[in-house]
Amino acid sequence: MKITRISAYQVDLPLHEGSYHWSGGKSVSVFDSTVVRIETDAGVTGHGEVCPLGPSYLPSYAAGARAGIAELAPALIGRDPRELDALNRHMDARLKGHPYVKSALDMACWDILGQAAGLPVCTLLGGRDGEDGMLYRAISQDAPDAMAARVAGYRAEGYRRFQLKVGGDPDTDIARIQACAERCEAGDVLIADANTGWLPHQALRVLRAVRDLDVYIEQPCLSYEECLSVRRHCDQPFVLDESVDGIEMLLRGHADGAMDVVNIKISKLGGLTKARRLRDLCVAMGLAMTIEDSWGGDIVTAAIAHLYHSTPEPFRFTATDFNSYVSVSIAEGAPQRLAGRMAASDAPGLGVRPRMEVLGEPVIAVS
Ligand code: MG
Repeated sequence: MKITRISAYQVDLPLHEGSYHWSGGKSVSVFDSTVVRIETDAGVTGHGEVCPLGPSYLPSYAAGARAGIAELAPALIGRDPRELDALNRHMDARLKGHPYVKSALDMACWDILGQAAGLPVCTLLGGRDGEDGMLYRAISQDAPDAMAARVAGYRAEGYRRFQLKVGGDPDTDIARIQACAERCEAGDVLIADANTGWLPHQALRVLRAVRDLDVYIEQPCLSYEECLSVRRHCDQPFVLDESVDGIEMLLRGHADGAMDVVNIKISKLGGLTKARRLRDLCVAMGLAMTIEDSWGGDIVTAAIAHLYHSTPEPFRFTATDFNSYVSVSIAEGAPQRLAGRMAASDAPGLGVRPRMEVLGEPVIAVS
């Protein structure tokens, strides 16, 4: 089987809540997503998606994804999309770094491999464990009362895990965590994600003030060293996200005892192939995971569901269903949240059928 054509589409994904806010005053109101379509000489077509969380979250941005895809696509024509490791080595040889650029291309090839094998991607990633998995809801940064009200609202929709966007003024963040904890009940999970927003002294003040609350702390500071120093003073379970951008940092963090949970984002790592590699290492090392992406619509959500559902249940800390945050559906067949939980599709590949009328005309077409 050979790749004959690669197209990419730009699609705007507005948010049901209007906007999404996190540390440092950063926000997004309309997500700029890129869908990749890979056609083959066997008549099998696969799709992938990449959607950065704006230009200032990770070293990635939407136009950069498309520029990188345009750069790489000609090098992939004629390659076998089913040979995922070989394909990734080829992408890495042709374009150094830029993992997010490769993510949608890799994802589309997994979709092709699954369709060619007649199996869901979940099966190819190791096989599903259980019926479904728990999701978390991200609570956009806002006044403490507003965030607590949103926790209560999403709790009523079935979510039991909540990731609070903190990383702002420490006193306000303490109030945010306290107000949201009051709306939780036994069995709920609360995560305070500072998204690198605190300096170590600020993080220590917040941690001390919420010491008696049942809350996880995620990525308090910008650098790994700052996070490690905070971790060494911390009673709460600890999640690293932005600092863990590949195997080297995962192994270093594990050796240092720097975290209890790792956030695996598909595009941060370069696609499903590399995300699976880190996922399997985490399982071997006893680290639970949040499995997700920077953002996305139906196709990213489907890929998350396949990776999450094929992760052994004790290691599935949480995941998220981005397609329920956005008001535009780009594909049929994507997983839909049910009572705060999500399952991977049983259909071959990713199990999605893009709505071409929503995607419109391609912005990149290489054959
Ligand atoms: Mg995070």
